Amino acid sequence: MRAVDIIAKKRDGHPLTAKEIDFFIQGFTRGEIPDYQAASLLMAIYLKGMNEQETADLTISMARSGKMMDLSPIAPLAVDKHSTGGVGDKTTLVVVPLVAAAGLPVGKISGRGLGFTGGTLDKLESIPGFQANLSTEEFMATLRDCGIVVVGQTADMVPADGKLYALRDVTATVSNISLIASSIMSKKIASGANAIVLDVKVGLGAFMHTREEAIALARAMVNIGQALNRRVVAVISDMNQPLGQAVGNALELKEAIATLHGHGPTDFLEHCLVIAGQMLLLANRAPDAQQAREMLLHELDSGRAWHKFRDWIVGQGGDQAYIDDLSLLPQATLVEALPSPRSGYVAGLDAMEVGLTVALLGGGRARKGDPIDHAVGVVLAKKIGDYVKKGEALLTIHANDEQKLADARRRLLDAYSWSDEPVEHPPLTHEIISSRSSVMAEGLPTEPSPPRSGDLRRTEEAPKSKVQNSKR
Ligand code: URA
Repeated sequence: MRAVDIIAKKRDGHPLTAKEIDFFIQGFTRGEIPDYQAASLLMAIYLKGMNEQETADLTISMARSGKMMDLSPIAPLAVDKHSTGGVGDKTTLVVVPLVAAAGLPVGKISGRGLGFTGGTLDKLESIPGFQANLSTEEFMATLRDCGIVVVGQTADMVPADGKLYALRDVTATVSNISLIASSIMSKKIASGANAIVLDVKVGLGAFMHTREEAIALARAMVNIGQALNRRVVAVISDMNQPLGQAVGNALELKEAIATLHGHGPTDFLEHCLVIAGQMLLLANRAPDAQQAREMLLHELDSGRAWHKFRDWIVGQGGDQAYIDDLSLLPQATLVEALPSPRSGYVAGLDAMEVGLTVALLGGGRARKGDPIDHAVGVVLAKKIGDYVKKGEALLTIHANDEQKLADARRRLLDAYSWSDEPVEHPPLTHEIISSRSSVMAEGLPTEPSPPRSGDLRRTEEAPKSKVQNSKR
């Protein structure tokens, strides 16, 4: 087999076999196939697309390019969640202790913030002592002892994705549905997930700007799950405005803790209940969405979810004093309310602009490895649909630099748009897409329970047509 023949085959629009894909991916990972040939293949895939089978074959080949975790000794059915990235998205911090309190252990690989989106690990690292880099033995021991472990990706996991993503970034081949779907799913499969709830964000503050793009990506990932015998559900959720009120690392951690204590923002709690509920459904821990929700609310009200969170943080080395007394967490020196320039209804609140502003305050990074300021960010008081009087606070800015504070004031005012007429609060969940794939886990039922009325899941099979390119 020769790399050049595989490139030519895809250039001419023919589907590649599993063997051809694997030859290319493993050869590229080992450094035997050079970047220029990999870049050519990526462009050919971008232009000619990949069908469902090729996308699944690419995913498994990438997953197998490095270490594959096996969580089965501790979690016979490992259920994971993954967000495609958003602003104010601290969902993992609440969902994981919620489902763990309900008896579902979660061992998870999470990411760091890049550009305008935040990352779970950065939020957790607001807590002194928290260790995101654990050995496999430590990972398994923490999962066994606490029922939860969340770490960063190691260099030996899915190395093909690391190398391919770096090439896609500089060859204008990122926004292809097959490449995005295989990149995300290969990491979930390598980290040992048997079942996955995907939180596919759509809107101004998301990777996917239109509902059509989000649905195409969700379907591609659900189809991969089906082909690889993993149970996958995709929740298409709104990211036109930030989720909850806090954006910024320590601020979001505080909001997540408030939510676990029962006094977080309603939209954020609702979103967490949807994602956690889908995780319980995938694991057959609840018969329907309503009962899953009731179970989760019970875990919240009883304080068990909070205690799970605490055990987890302490289990990963975090200093308990900082989560019991939130005033100890990093605090910004300049905290200032932003008054509304007019009266009216908030018609829009550009999530990407809010995310970028927080990054510019120091809360995000432009390049991998840049340092971040955990204390800075914003706490929104008014969101889409709210009525505001002139002079009332729209939000509070937390900054550590006068110049950055002044820039943030200007940018955040521009992020709001206005209406004199009442504006509806936007929906949190647009739709839920699921497959009927079976799960290979001993002793577990192989079919998810059928949807009941009121259950939002869509159960039709995804179309068997070619996966679409998404060119933005
Ligand atoms: N997130 C990923 O992990 N990979 C992509 O290609 C895009 C978003």
